[in-house]
Amino acid sequence: MKAIRMMEPGKPLQLQNVPIPSFGEEDVLVRVRAAGICHSDAHYRAGRSMMGMMPITLGHEVAGEVEWIGSKVTNVKAGERVCLHYNISCGDCYYCKIGNEQFCTTVKMIGHHVDGGYAEYIAMPARNAIHLPDEISFEEGATLMCASATALHALRKGRMQAGETVAVFGIGGLGLSAIQLAKALGAVEVYAVDIKLDKLELASEYGAIPVDASRVDVVEEIRNLTKGKGVDVALEMIGLQTTMKQTIASLGVLGRAVIVGLSHIPLEVHPYQTLIGYEAEIIGSNDHLLQELHLLIDMVQRKLLDTAHVVSQTIPLDAEKINQRLDELENYTNDVRAVIVQRD
Ligand SMILES: [Zn+2]
Ligand SMILES: [Zn+2]
Repeated sequence: MKAIRMMEPGKPLQLQNVPIPSFGEEDVLVRVRAAGICHSDAHYRAGRSMMGMMPITLGHEVAGEVEWIGSKVTNVKAGERVCLHYNISCGDCYYCKIGNEQFCTTVKMIGHHVDGGYAEYIAMPARNAIHLPDEISFEEGATLMCASATALHALRKGRMQAGETVAVFGIGGLGLSAIQLAKALGAVEVYAVDIKLDKLELASEYGAIPVDASRVDVVEEIRNLTKGKGVDVALEMIGLQTTMKQTIASLGVLGRAVIVGLSHIPLEVHPYQTLIGYEAEIIGSNDHLLQELHLLIDMVQRKLLDTAHVVSQTIPLDAEKINQRLDELENYTNDVRAVIVQRD
């Protein structure tokens, strides 16, 4: 089969002919129909992240059709449309047993530690395959497996309740999903913070109140908009010092700040002003869970989350086109969400 593979760090991906992956009695073989090209893939190709093997096929946002099932598989049928949870966990270790499989001691992410979806076929444990209803396209199904899922997990980590207010810092794919999901889960008001006007406009189309960080003092503005109270939940989706501090400073009494954006710079907080005086919480949110993906698909099917406009470019399984798209992500030159689409 054809696979677009990373042969060595820092080099363009290459088309290779490789055997169709073998699979066991609890696995499925999936004919890949859509594979999202994610910002992480640009980091992987550049060699900024430790890969589990080399060469490796990238692609962790995958949807397709079940081609073949192992003898013990009962949750999906051959021919079924599915999308794939990208973390392969053991199901047996302490973390898997307590339902936090993203900390599985042997967790492997497809397209990072093992071969992913920039290929014609992928083999996976059957429990990672989630039914994809006919009304959700393969392209949407693929992108749901990453940013939207991570946004849902972050809201759940923030224990957002109906009737609460939410601020979302950073309106990319994660932020837009977070806005819609917060609304669907009953947030009374969602504030969208960004410096880009087009993002803020998009956020208001989804019912958020835009806060233009290039023009106003964000914390002051959020305090004004909440009549001095501050928000109940604030999500940081960017990974910058400034926005992390603003996220925390926007909280009201008993507020929860959820940090999703990555940063290696230590974050300073004032124990009394920031935490004790408000009984505030700062919470880390890491990836997402298989169980959340079922809920997410259900929410898309019920039209509570609109992902039809997320995918802005489809490209074939072609090394040159994929590399070009990764170059654009690397240089932040073209802000579109591209998905590799394979039809017969
Ligand atoms: Zn991704
Ligand atoms: Zn485990």
